[in-house]
Amino acid sequence: MNVRAEYTDTGKRCLQCGEMKPFAAFAKRTASTDGLRPDCRECKSKRTRKYRVENLEKVRAGENAYNAAHREVRAEYADEWRRLNPEKHRAGQIKWAKENPEKVAAKAARDRAKNPEKHRERGRRFRRENPHLTRIHKQERRAREINAKGELSRDIVQSLFAKQQGKCVYCPADLTQVKYHLDHKMPLKLGGVTEDSNMQLLCPRCNLRKSAKHPDVFAQQMSKGQWPISP
Ligand SMILES: [Zn+2]
Ligand SMILES: [Zn+2]
Repeated sequence: MNVRAEYTDTGKRCLQCGEMKPFAAFAKRTASTDGLRPDCRECKSKRTRKYRVENLEKVRAGENAYNAAHREVRAEYADEWRRLNPEKHRAGQIKWAKENPEKVAAKAARDRAKNPEKHRERGRRFRRENPHLTRIHKQERRAREINAKGELSRDIVQSLFAKQQGKCVYCPADLTQVKYHLDHKMPLKLGGVTEDSNMQLLCPRCNLRKSAKHPDVFAQQMSKGQWPISP
């Protein structure tokens, strides 16, 4: 665009887009007679973006070289930023993990390989402290293993405890006293899905007896008194 520099008291015309803009809209440049760039910040950044797209490899190489040369300084800046913005840093980490599940899994695998005993101990502690979640994770994992979708509410065990009043579905066993299993009413093997509506809590004995039977078949066997029902 063919426009001459043109000034008012508060601004000048951008030689790129031709618009009259306030001085603040222009970046500083000491080499210019007025101390400002001839094109406005908006035009400049547009051009920079365009250049970047058209010369991506060259730009990347330049950035990588710069980053390599300034690694320590950059790391210090990053440390300082993290120290000053712990919540933002944490939120960023969570967002990143959500968007990069493969990388998270790969790192977890590396950590496991590096220190298997520590990993096992962490697993044991988690299972000890989170028995409900442990059962939920197990059923979700079983679903994934057969390439089925499996997602349960995190409080499904508490809900079922309330709904079943703490009792096994098939026998009078008090699930607060014995261990409980999180069971698929319709077994995975018979096409049952891993979702809240298909789950129930059973005492270990009923669960082992039920195994992969159709729920109607098992209920019938139970009602015929095939097994004594006392837990
Ligand atoms: Zn402009
Ligand atoms: Zn039972």
